[in-house]
Amino acid sequence: MNTIAFIGLGNMGGSMAANLIRANHRLTVFDLVADAVERAVSQGAEAAASAAEAVREADAVVTMLPASRHVHDLYLGGGRLLESAKTGALFIDCSTIAPATAKEVATAANARGMRMIDAPVSGGVAGAAAGTLTFIVGGEAADLESARPLLEAMGKAVFHAGGSGAGQAAKICNNMLLAIHMIGTCEALRLGSASGLDPKVLSDIMVQSSGRNWSLELYNPCPGVMEHAPASRGYQGGFLTDLMLKDLGLAMEAAANAGAPTPLGAQAHELYADHSRAGSGGLDFSSIFNALTEARNAD
Ligand code: NAD
Repeated sequence: MNTIAFIGLGNMGGSMAANLIRANHRLTVFDLVADAVERAVSQGAEAAASAAEAVREADAVVTMLPASRHVHDLYLGGGRLLESAKTGALFIDCSTIAPATAKEVATAANARGMRMIDAPVSGGVAGAAAGTLTFIVGGEAADLESARPLLEAMGKAVFHAGGSGAGQAAKICNNMLLAIHMIGTCEALRLGSASGLDPKVLSDIMVQSSGRNWSLELYNPCPGVMEHAPASRGYQGGFLTDLMLKDLGLAMEAAANAGAPTPLGAQAHELYADHSRAGSGGLDFSSIFNALTEARNAD
């Protein structure tokens, strides 16, 4: 790829762009926030005055935006991305959005002679900074192969989930499962403590038993059990409750569209919505551990 445009230099995108620059790619960048653009310029990127200008000469375009409506507006609305890029340009949208929006935008890109893959990520801000993200890709295999050198400069694993929108669908399934096992882990630890067990001892037992799961093994939600987990630093940093809530909303939308029963996903969505409304939207998602006590105390 000769010239790459990167749009959306937030918590994730800023570090991903920095890793592309480090891998000697030429980047033209745009974000609505001037400070984010300045940071990328100080790392070697060139600033564009708008998203449309950033993509004009680009062979590949990476976007990392908050949600479906931002992607829709940028590509098909006022952002005029598809109108402005060269024929044959490859679009790589790494935002987490609705599979239906991903498909709609990719179909419009193909109709204009452009290529597009959805490539949402797993790994969070730490993975973005370290260049160890996992990309979950939907789209044509040949387009994934064209994108691979860029994805590998930003991450360590690349999966092809299927056709357009499949990357988003897989990411949403994963995060719904994550929410469910995080809440289940919190419940088990709360029940253990209420039964007089030491949460650290109980965690050691469950991690070697059939209740083992990622939240328990790497991200224990009980403060003090795991030194490096967000729970042990006041639930600061990590993966925010509001981002998990967004992903659960996407999961509920996908489940309704597909007619798939997701009773635990729906319950997790409700619990995270309550937790966010109670003021914890900016805390790590493992802080749902606290919501369980609050609910008990309120009874
Ligand atoms: P963020 O809010 O920090 O960054 C988004 C950036 O997009 C902002 O800088 C914003 O100014 C910019 N932006 C919005 N509209 C724009 C437009 N029209 N033109 C140019 N720039 C625009 O969000 P983030 O944490 O970087 O997350 C980005 C995406 O990655 C989201 O879809 C999120 O769900 C997903 N994600 C985040 C994490 C995480 O831990 N933060 C983990 C995995 C996936």
